[in-house]
Amino acid sequence: MSSDTRLTAAEVAYWADRLDQAPPETIVAWAWDTFGDRLALASSFGAEDMCLIDMLTRVTKTPRVFYLDTGVLFPETYALIHETEQRYGFRAERVLPRLTLEEQAERYGDGLWARDPDTCCMIRKVEPLTRYLAGVEAWMTGIRRDQTPFRANARVVERDEKFGVIKVNPLARWRWEQVWAYLQARGVPYNPLHDQGYPSIGCAPCTRAVRPGEDPRAGRWAGFGKTECGLHK
Ligand code: SF4
Repeated sequence: MSSDTRLTAAEVAYWADRLDQAPPETIVAWAWDTFGDRLALASSFGAEDMCLIDMLTRVTKTPRVFYLDTGVLFPETYALIHETEQRYGFRAERVLPRLTLEEQAERYGDGLWARDPDTCCMIRKVEPLTRYLAGVEAWMTGIRRDQTPFRANARVVERDEKFGVIKVNPLARWRWEQVWAYLQARGVPYNPLHDQGYPSIGCAPCTRAVRPGEDPRAGRWAGFGKTECGLHK
């Protein structure tokens, strides 16, 4: 069962309106003040998440940061996780699927991601996230409204009905250029794949570089009509 929030629906609506135009740093600080260690930052260590890690570690030395380790992240991503932990002095929580890659292959066959990415994402991302969020009151994500039409209505604070927790999206209003301006101004480390044509970085088997002019998320699950893992409602 998911944990439930102590914020009422009216309070969520109030803060969503009140913080809508606030700088992300203000929203991050509000989230920490409101939820403390009942708040967890979901990180895939993409550009947006690195902004949030930098912001969160400016308000607390003990941030709760977790990542879904599907077992098939890029080597560059694993290296960045290590670098981030060293630089900011915290240990990210590694959330694992119930099935190892070998067990998944035994049960579903090799390369499930190439045949049925929805089932693979359910096993390696959605179920682990559901299990993890049962122990928190709020999660913070790096989603932005202009990433996909699906994300266009994201509020900076909202109730996540899917997981029964509060969801905080401090970067909802930001554009890609603002993300990069922040990273550069603060000297924040980032995944080198971003410089090689990967605006959005997920699991290695399901992510390719995008060509100039292509949609930034065209490199995720290319060939499938899929744009989300199922983590965001
Ligand atoms: S992104 Fe690909 S490899 Fe990762 S969990 Fe989803 S289908 Fe599986």
